Amino acid sequence: MSRKILIAGNWKMNKTATEAVELAKPIIEAIGNQNDIDVLMCPPFTSISAVSELIGNSTVRVGAQNMSDKASGAYTGEISAAMLRDLQVSYVILGHSERRSYYGETDAFINRKVLACLENNLKPVLCVGETLEEREGDKTEAVLEKQIKGAFAGISADDFKKIVIAYEPVWAIGTGRTATPDMAEATHAFIRKVLAGLYGALAEETVIQYGGSMKPENSRELVAQPDIDGGLIGGAALKADSFHDLVKNAIG
Ligand code: PEP
Repeated sequence: MSRKILIAGNWKMNKTATEAVELAKPIIEAIGNQNDIDVLMCPPFTSISAVSELIGNSTVRVGAQNMSDKASGAYTGEISAAMLRDLQVSYVILGHSERRSYYGETDAFINRKVLACLENNLKPVLCVGETLEEREGDKTEAVLEKQIKGAFAGISADDFKKIVIAYEPVWAIGTGRTATPDMAEATHAFIRKVLAGLYGALAEETVIQYGGSMKPENSRELVAQPDIDGGLIGGAALKADSFHDLVKNAIG
């Protein structure tokens, strides 16, 4: 089974709408005609519209970093899946470790967001990952299994096909400390085994990205691993040249 590589930039709370256009333009110019790889940019909500307008006929896609689990109504400050769809968003990052740790997002809450995302034809990029304490305490597999099973409760096999997983060891995010390719591969293979337990052979089709200090210097060796199907990129996605070098290197 050949899975298409997906490289996504998570811009987090960086870039005004004007700065977002300055970042997105050269990326689209450099890799906007790439068909052998999927490329996604996830700006803050306030820049999505501006970035979507730039995409035109390019192959680059626009994603969001979060969304509400509710469809509409009196939820001050929230953004719904339908609002994102209307701005040509196609993927939504859900369950990022920063949302789990700073905003208390639980597996059950993330599950409701995954369901709302799928109901609106958006593709969830579900983030899972262990803390350093959990890895050192030999709890990585139990943590990942709980996060995956919690997020996928009630998800049909048809909907499962639309989900991307990002394995992001929390200790590697923004720290410059990357999981070694062997360590990341072993964990990705474990995640695929958990998915196979839930959805059988469909697990072979699931794109599992690695995230955590991926950069142009290490994207090739990480993506070359059999179960690593791309990357979710934080810091290295904030400069056009580092992001497109990372993408170019990843595909060799
Ligand atoms: C992230 O937060 O999704 C991430 C992977 O960040 P960084 O690449 O900066 O480690």
